[in-house]
Amino acid sequence: MLFLDLDRFKTINDTLGHPAGDSLLQQAAKRLKTTLREEDTIGRVGGDEFLILVSELTTLEDVGHVADKILKALSAPFLVADYELHVSASIGISLYPRDTDDADALIQYADTALYLAKEQGRNTFRFFSPELDSSVRTRLHLENDLRSAIDKNQLFLQYQPLMDLETGHCSGAEALLRWQHPEHGLISPDDFIPIAEETGLIIPIGEWVLGQACLQARLWQDAGMVDFRVSVNLSRRQLEQAGLPATLRQILHETGCPPQLLELEITESSTMSHPEQAIVRLNALHEMGIGLALDDYGTGYSSLAYLKRFPLDRMKIDRSFVEGIPDDSDDVAIVQTTIVMARQLRLKVVAEGVETSAQRAFLKALGCDEIQGYLFAKPMSAGDVRNHCAVVWEKHKK
Ligand code: C2E
Ligand code: MG
Ligand code: MG
Repeated sequence: MLFLDLDRFKTINDTLGHPAGDSLLQQAAKRLKTTLREEDTIGRVGGDEFLILVSELTTLEDVGHVADKILKALSAPFLVADYELHVSASIGISLYPRDTDDADALIQYADTALYLAKEQGRNTFRFFSPELDSSVRTRLHLENDLRSAIDKNQLFLQYQPLMDLETGHCSGAEALLRWQHPEHGLISPDDFIPIAEETGLIIPIGEWVLGQACLQARLWQDAGMVDFRVSVNLSRRQLEQAGLPATLRQILHETGCPPQLLELEITESSTMSHPEQAIVRLNALHEMGIGLALDDYGTGYSSLAYLKRFPLDRMKIDRSFVEGIPDDSDDVAIVQTTIVMARQLRLKVVAEGVETSAQRAFLKALGCDEIQGYLFAKPMSAGDVRNHCAVVWEKHKK
């Protein structure tokens, strides 16, 4: 049983219109018919989904061969509404009687395998397996739960204070998202942000984060923490939204947060897919007075040609390089060079993941502006940030 789904069919429907989508479906169906044998069965089960029943095959290789043939047949361009469209497909495969002898389950298993094929880059096929079933199930459950996580108050922010190396004071904090799941406990953003990005949920979640963080920045300011900056991580999908500057303008307005107190953290990879578009959007944000920081610096493909055109204020050196200083000579060279370059570009530098006083001393000597890491403070609640920074302030006065 092959479950086939055309990749990104929705985009074609949305951009070229439904008649174009219909024509593509008809042509794809024709190609499927000519690729398969007379005794095979093809059915369109809805949207851009086809079920294909190939019988009389005995080995996995044979089935894989058929799937390969189908993918090849669909890879040649389609002529639709005067456009040459390159369309690929993903296929999930289940086997009778190996996987099940229940017809409905057979279809469902093929669908599960299709999910994996999509996830692993599309234009490919995958076989069903019982292990796959349970991992996809967990994943689908998480996805479902994440949909209602905001409404159920399961998301919350922690803040990790940053230290200004020159004054020794708290200069701001980074907002870090947490998900308190009723069954799975605390889930790390590394585990659910990717799901939020794939499903598009990152847009409402990201807006919620921005709203909370801006409100907090305003409250800290009202409490007398002057110039205390709040950084918020921005995902690639958010940066791709044309409405982002308008959304931010509204959030700043509603929360009464001065734009200077907000800093957005972007990564090299989130900007490099559409760098020209990113420049325009980042400029718009910067003109509003919002700060911009390049996060995880050194881990992506940094195009210096673009970097110098981004209106950045700050660079955050990734934890993986900070880890090795002052002993690892390669890490020392990388951190040192980055700081020199940042200074030349008139950017402030933050070192991430500082855990030892040796690292702090070394970074200070190199001219790094700020540090963030467990040595100074772990991520904590907003209330604790206030206490932590007040204590630091008091110690300093003495
Ligand atoms: P990031 O922006 O690079 O955040 C820094 C991460 O390093 C945080 O992990 C923080 O807890 C951790 N960290 C800080 N100091 C130390 C240290 O001294 N040692 C070690 N080992 N780790 C340290 P966290 O909170 O798990 O966040 C992971 C990533 O999730 C973040 O990396 C960020 O990319 C993403 N993320 C978090 N919140 C959001 C959000 O609201 N929106 C988006 N789009 N992404 C978020
Ligand atoms: Mg960050
Ligand atoms: Mg980082």
